[in-house]
Amino acid sequence: MVREPRLQVCELFYSIQGESTFAGLPCVFIRLAGCNLRCSYCDAAYSYLEPATGMTIDSVLQFVDRHPGTLVELTGGEPLLQPGCRRLIDRLLAAKRTVLLETNGSQPIASVPAAVRVIIDVKCPGSGMVQSWLQDNLEAIRLRAAAVPASTEVKFVISDEEDYLYARDFIRKHDLASHAPVLFSPVRGRISPGDLAGAILEDHLPVRLQLQMHTVIWPDKTRGV
Ligand code: SF4
Repeated sequence: MVREPRLQVCELFYSIQGESTFAGLPCVFIRLAGCNLRCSYCDAAYSYLEPATGMTIDSVLQFVDRHPGTLVELTGGEPLLQPGCRRLIDRLLAAKRTVLLETNGSQPIASVPAAVRVIIDVKCPGSGMVQSWLQDNLEAIRLRAAAVPASTEVKFVISDEEDYLYARDFIRKHDLASHAPVLFSPVRGRISPGDLAGAILEDHLPVRLQLQMHTVIWPDKTRGV
């Protein structure tokens, strides 16, 4: 029998999905530890700064099973860095779960099953990580859309006007909105949602403005939401 890889887990929790087209729905979160990036606005630095808990996939699934029928989101850190992530995805799909995967755009998504809703970041200049985007992921997004429409969502976290212009030009250059829902998320304290909404309307951009719903519901909680 092949031994399954262990997962390095930061936290498991049950909350409201806060930032995607699934926002507002109950969701089980599996936050895997470790990240290869260091974004200037990171609100999950504890996922790579604090010691992780080694867990078997079975024990993670036991937690998931306590919440039957809900969405399951794999997040981080950067979940695709862990070899066990793919096995966990396969087990969740076999259990007929709807699986969301948040990834930072630096890791290949081509081999992630199209049944998984991938929410992939394109890092903007304000993150300090703009060079991390893996260009091959553009083709992967197109192929995934051909296999399962809207199987990928592309997220831009916007800090300022420079980020907005970068995201706008990226979308137009790659005709991104034809292949995936596109999400614009303002960084709290750096750009006002109203200013971002005004720019989107002015440019008639086919994107979805999203506010981090969990930060509105639980403004004082920084983890487990
Ligand atoms: S990719 Fe995500 S977890 Fe990693 S540093 Fe950036 S915001 Fe933080």
